[in-house]
This record gives sequence, C-alpha cells and structure tokens, in this order.
Amino acid sequence: MTDDATPIDLEKIVSLCKRRGFIFQSSEVYGGLSSTYDYGPLGVELKRNVKDAWWRKFVWGRDDMVGLDSAIIMHPDVWRASGHLDSFTDPLVDCRDCRKRWREDQLDEPRCPDCGGLLTDSRNFNLMFRTYMGPVEEEASTVYLRPETAQGIFVNFNNVLNTTRRKLPFGVAQIGKAFRNEITTGNFIFRTREFEIMEIEYFVKPGDDDECHRVWVEECLDWYRELGISPERLRVRAHEGSELAHYSKATHDIEYRFPWGWGEIQGIANRTDYDLSAHGSASGESLSWFDDDAGQRVVPFVVEPSAGVDRALMTFLVDAYAEEEAPTTSGRTERRVLLRLHPSLAPVKVAVLPLSRNQRLEPLARSVFESVRRSSGRNGVVQYDSAQSIGRRYRRQDEIGTPICVTVDFDSLDDNAVTIRERDSMAQTRVAIDALPGELAGRLAG
Ligand code: ATP
Repeated sequence: MTDDATPIDLEKIVSLCKRRGFIFQSSEVYGGLSSTYDYGPLGVELKRNVKDAWWRKFVWGRDDMVGLDSAIIMHPDVWRASGHLDSFTDPLVDCRDCRKRWREDQLDEPRCPDCGGLLTDSRNFNLMFRTYMGPVEEEASTVYLRPETAQGIFVNFNNVLNTTRRKLPFGVAQIGKAFRNEITTGNFIFRTREFEIMEIEYFVKPGDDDECHRVWVEECLDWYRELGISPERLRVRAHEGSELAHYSKATHDIEYRFPWGWGEIQGIANRTDYDLSAHGSASGESLSWFDDDAGQRVVPFVVEPSAGVDRALMTFLVDAYAEEEAPTTSGRTERRVLLRLHPSLAPVKVAVLPLSRNQRLEPLARSVFESVRRSSGRNGVVQYDSAQSIGRRYRRQDEIGTPICVTVDFDSLDDNAVTIRERDSMAQTRVAIDALPGELAGRLAG
C-alpha cells in the first residue's frame, strides 16, 4: 500500500503478478478456470520462502514441535468421525431471478447483491470435494479431498507420540494442499477452491488450553510482524458463539486490512479434545497420553493455529507494494513501483548488473555473479541481468522486491570494488569484491 489514505487498487497487484511472473490465471490458454491460479517462476520462490519462514520459526525454532506430511486422500471414516460430513457446511442461498449463488452469512441483506432479486431459503452445502478411489464410481468407493490438514495429524497422534517420545505440551506442524468447494470465491488468491494451508496442532493438558490459546495468538501475530507486515493493518477478532466451528470452544482470527476491508488471514482455534476423542471412539484406538506424574491417561486438548499460505503470500504482497517518486540519472524524477518485501521472503535475493554490455565489463561481472551465487545462492535466487539501461534494470528489480543490486562498472576493473544498491533507500555503497559475501550476508539477514 502507498499510505492509509489511498489504499492500492487490487488490480495493480494482479497485473504486477502477471507481468512479472508471480501468479497466472490457471489454464489461461483455454480461457482460464475461474478462481484457480498458478504460481510462476517468481511466485513459486515467494511461496516457498513464506512456507520456509513459517517452518523455521514454528518447527526449527522450537524444541516442542515436530513436522508431518500426511496424505490428501484419507479413509472416509475420518471425515465421518471428525464431523465434517455432517457439519463442514456453509449456508447456500440462490437468487430467484438471476440464479446467482451466495453464502448467506456473507450477505448484509436478504436480497441478491447483484440484481436485488428475492433469495431462496438457505440450505447447508457441504464444502468437501468428493471423488472416487479406484476404477468403479460407486458409493462404496467415495473419498474426499481434505479441507484441512489437521485430521492427518489427529489420526497420527499415536504414531508421532510413539516415535518421538514426546510429553505434553508438544505440537505437530504440517503444510499442504487443502480443497474446499467454496460457494463464492474471489479477491484474487484470497479465496480459492484449492489452496495451501500451514497448520499446527498443539497438544496440551486439559486446563492449560485457555492460556496456551492466548500465547499462540501472540506467537502468530509476531510471525507477521517480524516479516514486516504493518502492525496497524493487523487485528485480532474473537469469533462470536454463532460463528464457532462445530469443534471449537473459542476461535480468534488474525485479520489484515486489505484494499477491500478487513479479511481473515489466520484462525487460532481451541479444538478441545473433540477430534482425538471422536477418532478414539470411532476407531476403537485410544488417542491419548499417559501422564506419569498424575498416573493416568489424558486425552489432550488441542490449540490449532491455522494459516493459509496463499492468503499470507497475498498479505505480504499487498503490504509490500509501494509507489513513489524517484530521481533518475538525468536529474528528473519518475514514478517507481517497488515491493518492500522482507529479505527472507524476496524471490530474488541479489541481482548482479554490469553497468553496460561493454565487453570489457562482462568477464568481471560474470565472475562477481558466480561468486555471489556461491555465497548467497543458498538463500535463494541470484540473477544476472545485462539487458537495457541500468535505470530500467533497477526499476525491474525494485518491482519484484530484490533487496540488493550489485553493479559492476568501469572503475571495478581498476579498484576491484562494486556498488551495492539498496532497494528501499536506493542508497549506494562501494564495497571491495572480496568483502562482498560478508556484506551481502549481513544485509540479507534482514
Ligand atoms: P472463511 O470464514 O474465510 O471461509 P474459515 O474460517 O473457514 O475461512 P479456516 O477454516 O479457519 O477458515 O482456515 C484457516 C485458514 O486457511 C484461513 O485463515 C485462511 O488463511 C485459509 N483459507 C481458508 N479457506 C480458504 C480459501 N478458500 N482460499 C484460500 N485460503 C483459505
């Protein structure tokens, strides 16, 4: 965003994403499939960086967490026991005039927002995608695409406990695809039917759950703040009783102020012992933990921080987007677009740019590029770019959020030094080529 008074137009982000190769409409050559998107060469780097930043903080950064990667298609009894077959629904209404479908709980009034027509009574629509396993399409082979990764964690509770010898409290983290046959989609990648989710199921002793819930809300907020999201565009909203999911005792949403208003980017739910108890009784295998101190078995309570990867990515993009007047080499000013992404999220970490395509510069610029790639390439992409004027190349790197450009000029041939240009301030510093790896490492640490 530029500033609070002039929220950016979402179309600018959509167009930048397409122009620079972050996000494309899926199946575009066939006219596109609505609300379905593909991540391009830069988008896939950004998405990977978002997931890595999350995993680093919540799994590698703690000693009470382990990871899991469970299957998308699970035994159908999982969804029966978890309550999803009966309760994972949204209230659906149709317009009697234009036939458009709406989610009743998202409407302000009982009329069609498009044509003002009368709406039907609402009916519950199950959001799970259904398909068939094996060659025969019959009821007995019906399976579901998971709408959350959480159930894969619950049904593996004993496996994780037995193989890791954990004691309460501990958590299991998982990142993976989820599918919801949403009634309405929209706002670019904010609400789609196929998306990725980063979830933690944190198991605690009953009675410790309320405090644990409170702490997790803070931990999750910190993650967004540490990665540079403007704190004043974040807020926490507690669900009202009528909003709570069937498994939840309390849920807090972290919301971000998007161009169209506040929107949920993450939910933190207290799922109690609902899931472990339900799977325990439906499967006949007790999903519980033996508390040596108390000398008894307990079914843990669960606090679940659940964040959408795509929504987080969109939040980082929207928050990083800026337009400003910048001086040109000829002494005038021009409008520059930049993504002020945190260095750990930026898809390209460093761009090495020879001042011009002059043949005398090329060998040194190439060797600087190779050395930067060896030192910084472990953290992400390092690009070499010699096409067009240096000013245009800076603008291109600004627009994709590259934190640092390294420019090799004619003086470099004599003084073995290069110029480092910093994205946000545009400040330029001369650095000896030998000192470049250390200098870049310090700056990229953010
Ligand atoms: P909503 O009320 O917006 O439908 P929800 O409360 O059902 O969302 P949760 O079940 O809490 O969402 O899902 C956890 C997170 O997964 C959300 O905070 C969001 O970041 C992400 N998410 C959920 N549904 C979608 C979707 N259709 N597209 C993209 N991300 C989603």
